[in-house]
Amino acid sequence: MAGNLTIGALLAQGIERLRSGSGASSAARSATSNLGATHSLDAELLLAHALSMSRTQLKTHPENVPSHERARRYTELVDRRAAGEPVAYILGYRDFWTLRLAVNPAVLVPRPETELLVERALVLGPSGPARIADLGTGSGAIALALASERPAWAVVATDVSENALGTARANASMLGLGRVELLKGRWFEPLAGRRFDLIASNPPYVAEADPALQDAALEHEPQIALAAGPDGMSALREIVHSAPHYLERRGWLLLEHGSDQAAAVARELVVRGFGHVRSHRDLAGHERMTEAQWN
Ligand code: SAM
Ligand code: GLN
Repeated sequence: MAGNLTIGALLAQGIERLRSGSGASSAARSATSNLGATHSLDAELLLAHALSMSRTQLKTHPENVPSHERARRYTELVDRRAAGEPVAYILGYRDFWTLRLAVNPAVLVPRPETELLVERALVLGPSGPARIADLGTGSGAIALALASERPAWAVVATDVSENALGTARANASMLGLGRVELLKGRWFEPLAGRRFDLIASNPPYVAEADPALQDAALEHEPQIALAAGPDGMSALREIVHSAPHYLERRGWLLLEHGSDQAAAVARELVVRGFGHVRSHRDLAGHERMTEAQWN
């Protein structure tokens, strides 16, 4: 790609470059991985970023010719994307729920399907004041979305990764949600002696040997955010097992999981003594999360 090309032509070239660069890796993708091919959206986001314009401005001025320097910058971004780097890391942010979250390679890129867990938490959580926990908060996505929707909720989030917590802290203060408590430690460890009305978690749930972890779509993200034991269930099992010690009576546990793990997660919950166990499908039609109530 070179200078003297219009916005329209640059977009078309970028889309073509992304399409030809992504063929081989997608075959290795597993059922739990769902980063679809969104080449035209990616090209638009990258061009808008390189030109410091909005996507709307790109669409209304396709005939404009950006400077050589800007076009070159765009080409570099497209090359990074073609090599598999998530577009959110390239831009430095991802929109999740109603929030713009800063992201970097220390945190999982928040996924649209995780909004399903936020939706269910808003439905199931008490309408008044409540204590809420988010385990493995990463960028802070779930905790911050819930705090932004429910000012009366006291939200606490944990993560074992100091760098992830730093990102969550930066997001909390940028969004004026500094009241969200962010604690370092393994799952419930920093929450000893506390009880919650609702506990939510999107823990790692990809099997360690899943070839998708080496796929271009996932290899840039932290392994600790993705991989969980031989069957991908180790974090889910640990959370189900410990949760009753941290739940109020009639408190809810909400877990995101892989599209092929709903039955296994439901079984763990029933065996542990939870009731009202119910799985929900994401927009792609996959059973993506399961909720359960402690009696
Ligand atoms: N909640 C965020 C979201 O939905 O975008 C991030 C989810 S990511 C799949 C899982 C997170 O769990 C990562 O941020 C990772 O650092 C954290 N994690 C992994 N093992 C953990 C552990 N033993 N205790 C607490 N957090 C852990
Ligand atoms: N849904 C993620 C994927 O694209 C996995 C996230 C997780 O392990 N919690 O594979």
